[in-house]
Amino acid sequence: MDPLTSRSIRELRELLDQREVSALEVARAHLERIEAVDESTVRSLLTVTRDVAEEQARRADERLANGDTQPLLGIPMILKDVLTTRGIRTTAGSKILENFVPIEDATISRRLAEAGTVLLGKANMDEFAMGSSTENSAYFPTRNPWDLDRVPGGSSGGSAAAVGAEFAPFALGTDTGGSIRQPGALCGVVGFKPTYGRVSRYGLIAFASSLDQIGPFTRSVEDCALVMNAIAGHDPCDSTSLQASVPDYTAALREVSLKGVRLALPREYFSVEGMEPSVDASVKASIAHLESLGANLGEVSLPHTQYGLATYYLIAPAECSANLARYDGVKYGLSIREPGAGLWDVYERSRGAGFGREVKRRIILGTYALSSGYYDAYYLKAQKVRTLIKQDFDAVFEKFDAVVGPTSPNVAFPLGAKTQDPLAMYLNDLFTIPTSLAGLPGVSVPAGMVDGLPVGLQIIGKALDESTVLRIAHAFEQSTEWHTLRSPVAQRVVSRESRAGSPI
Ligand code: GLN
Repeated sequence: MDPLTSRSIRELRELLDQREVSALEVARAHLERIEAVDESTVRSLLTVTRDVAEEQARRADERLANGDTQPLLGIPMILKDVLTTRGIRTTAGSKILENFVPIEDATISRRLAEAGTVLLGKANMDEFAMGSSTENSAYFPTRNPWDLDRVPGGSSGGSAAAVGAEFAPFALGTDTGGSIRQPGALCGVVGFKPTYGRVSRYGLIAFASSLDQIGPFTRSVEDCALVMNAIAGHDPCDSTSLQASVPDYTAALREVSLKGVRLALPREYFSVEGMEPSVDASVKASIAHLESLGANLGEVSLPHTQYGLATYYLIAPAECSANLARYDGVKYGLSIREPGAGLWDVYERSRGAGFGREVKRRIILGTYALSSGYYDAYYLKAQKVRTLIKQDFDAVFEKFDAVVGPTSPNVAFPLGAKTQDPLAMYLNDLFTIPTSLAGLPGVSVPAGMVDGLPVGLQIIGKALDESTVLRIAHAFEQSTEWHTLRSPVAQRVVSRESRAGSPI
């Protein structure tokens, strides 16, 4: 029978509820798989939290024995290492936080712990979530579970690769300009970015505060809805958290027909320069499939799409330059103090040694864009264009229920292919950045294979209408086979784990 590690949240829930396995057995099967496979293959994790996992699993078993029926009770998971965890090192993929052990949980880490999930480890990422390949991690690059010579995407590449390698049924990532959807697409898993403000950012180490949003990676849309049920909702600790009520996201999945659903195809997202023709063709085939499920398609224009990247690369660096000022060698993390050195010297040496090249590049860009004399020309202008981009979507949503298109212009690329060319790297987020600037929810679902590598279909919804996005994604998934394909790393058998998979 299938090992425990290949099971969905839904399947694990049934096994746990029927006492066919214990939460401790589920946790150990995943930990053993991670310990046997991760290091020599994808390297998705910066920290494995075996002791915490076993302790949480034991507590989950007690709660199960007492009749607790929380949907995520006893389910193992992985957190991107930008989400603070009390007593567990949290690095944000940076040397400057190499030894940072938070004294508090992020709201989301706490909520998941209270829901009874079991933390297996902290996932690798581009430093401070800046990147599209996880090669900007200060520790090591993560590799793609479909091809170890290729990147998993980024910045949440560790979380995406871990789910694609079957180290956990779900992981959380963060998306500022595409960092959940793009690695989701490249690793062949579901990657969901909720509406800005839907999930609390409290305790998420900030990159660009007006864009950052936490969301799940899973291997099915139903699992994604289950995780969203646990993490969405208002948090008084986060002033940008929305007060809106949260629906049961699994309820939206009952409707499997797409009859009458109006889907917009933006002209700017197809057959454009820089897009791989095979990816373009694969996404078009998926869209024809949506039509066969009853959806009504219409071509639209999002005319300011071409300014998305330029706008994002002013706003995100501007916000990061302010957010990263707190790493000064005094308050947090790495501190380099030569005897007799002045305060300025401490700043310079600590930041100089603690931050990587991409982070420094962005701090410099952002500081420049915000400086007096340039503020109006760059930052203010970018904010205005951001409004225009949002208005493009508003106009489309007057007539359509969702926007569909590619997640990424390409499949996973070889390690090192774009590290010397930041612009080529930035182009990966062509189709995800406008959604982030507009604060909208979006998902990437497995929707094809090109040369043995996964392709993602992106579905974008109205603000707070995650349910429609999930419904469309689910209807697509349930009528296609793409989500059932397993990556080569996922198929590696770990012998002890297989034994743990047999019913007791
Ligand atoms: N790749 C984009 C960047 O480098 C997006 C990152 C993200 O969403 N965190 O900024």
